[in-house]
Amino acid sequence: MSRKILIAGNWKMNKTATEAVELAKPIIDAVANQNDIDVLMCPTFTSIPAVSALVGNSTAKIGAQNVSDKASGAYTGEISAAMLRDLQVSYVILGHSERRSYYGETDAFINKKVLACLESNLKPVLCVGETLEEREAGKVEEVIKTQLVGGLADVPADKAESIVIAYEPVWAIGTGKTATPEQAQEVHAFIRKTLTEILGTVSANIRILYGGSMKPSNADELLAKPDIDGGLIGGAALVANDFLALVNSGVKAQAAKA
Ligand code: PEP
Repeated sequence: MSRKILIAGNWKMNKTATEAVELAKPIIDAVANQNDIDVLMCPTFTSIPAVSALVGNSTAKIGAQNVSDKASGAYTGEISAAMLRDLQVSYVILGHSERRSYYGETDAFINKKVLACLESNLKPVLCVGETLEEREAGKVEEVIKTQLVGGLADVPADKAESIVIAYEPVWAIGTGKTATPEQAQEVHAFIRKTLTEILGTVSANIRILYGGSMKPSNADELLAKPDIDGGLIGGAALVANDFLALVNSGVKAQAAKA
C-alpha cells in the first residue's frame, strides 16, 4: 500500500507552552527514529515554537489547528501559512466541526485556507463529517460530498497528493461514542470515491483519517479497515501514553497492510 498511516493529535485549546513541552517530550523521544508511519502533534499557536524546538532530528511532525486565508497584511489577530512554515509546521487542521459550528466557517472560507496552505507547501487536514441529525435523516453522503466539493475547489493537480481528509462524525467527537469500524469504512470508501470524482486517480494516494473518540481500545479495529489510513485524535492525544499506544496501533496496522 502506498499510503503511510498518519496518527495525529489535535490538542485543541489545551496546554500552556510549559505543559505542552511536558506532553510532547515523551512522544518525540519515543518516535525519534521510527519512519514506518507519520506522527503529528497539533498544539495551540502559542505552544508551537516550544514544541518545534524539541523535535530536533525526531521524525515527529508539528501541525497547527488553523491558519489565515490571507498571505500577509492588515488582518489583526491572524497567523499566515508562511509564519507557520517558519516554525517547522508541516500540517494544518482545517474545517474542524468546532470551527464550523462555533466560528461559522463555511466550505468556501475553508477552501481559501486549503489553497493558502497548498500555496505554502503546508499539508491541509480537511475535516468533514455529519451531525447525528443529518445521519438520522439519511444525509451522510450528501453532507460529506458538499463539504469535499466546496473545501477542495480549485486544488492544483500537482498538490492534491499532500491533502489529508479526516472523517469526523460530529456525534462521535468528544462524546465517547465511536463510529463502528464498518460505519467508518463505509464513509471512508464513499470519501475516496468522491475524491476520485473531484481530483482523479490521485485519490488512491490521499490519506483519509478517522476521528471521533478514537482510543487505544478501539484503534486496532478501525485502523485495520482498508480505507482508514490513520486517526485524528482529540482527548486521547492529551495523555502521552494513550497517544503512544495509538502510534503503536498505527505501526501494527501499517505492517499488516503492507
Ligand atoms: C477531534 O476533535 O478532532 C476529535 C477527534 O476529538 P476526540 O478524539 O476527543 O473525539
